Amino acid sequence: MKTIGLIGGMSWESTIGYYREINQRVKAALGGLHSAKIVLHSVDFHPIEKLQHSGNWAATAEILVKAAKSVEVAGADFLLICTNTMHKVAGEVEQSINIPLLHIADATAEVLVEDRVKKVGLLGTVFTMEQDFYKRRLTEKFGLDVIVPSQADRKRVHDIIYNELCLGVVNETSRQEYLRIVNKLAESGAESVILGCTEIGMLISQEQTPVRLYDTTAMHAAKAVEWAL
Ligand code: GLU
Repeated sequence: MKTIGLIGGMSWESTIGYYREINQRVKAALGGLHSAKIVLHSVDFHPIEKLQHSGNWAATAEILVKAAKSVEVAGADFLLICTNTMHKVAGEVEQSINIPLLHIADATAEVLVEDRVKKVGLLGTVFTMEQDFYKRRLTEKFGLDVIVPSQADRKRVHDIIYNELCLGVVNETSRQEYLRIVNKLAESGAESVILGCTEIGMLISQEQTPVRLYDTTAMHAAKAVEWAL
């Protein structure tokens, strides 16, 4: 079994999801007392969030590059950045290490392509929904047609992520809001919706909507276990 490297803490609430999902999948595959070999570098999210919102991505890249190097030195065979948003600096991280980076958008898009999804809705932070680094990878590398909510709904989705989910707050009103927005995306032609933020799975799940959901945390973790085994 290979050792999985994780940069977590963005937020730590979602890193718990990675840890659980990866270990459950290794246990399911190997049985008994098997568990995943993991090196986790968990960062302090507060300064990173400030840098994101002030647009200082270069400084966030420096923090993640340092974390990535420490994960490599600690013996990881490959690396996951446990957040969609911070894949904004995936290129810088990838160039700074000698182990492969398992990109979250690739892990997700491969499943969508297998499932023959063509038009997909994307939920995430405004950085992920509005900027090019994530959507372009989905469209150019995988040929997906990506749609996002209206500006007001994007702000709503973003605020709920930072003001509630990243703090471990799961609110029923916010759940209804997300489900409404998922529905709207489906009405606009999305065949399914990517939960493109690693905390969203804390709030909504497949039983709550007829629209097919693709949770990036679950798919990223599943692909990591595939690589590890
Ligand atoms: N975990 C979130 C994501 O997947 C948002 C927090 C962050 O900015 O990293 O995008």
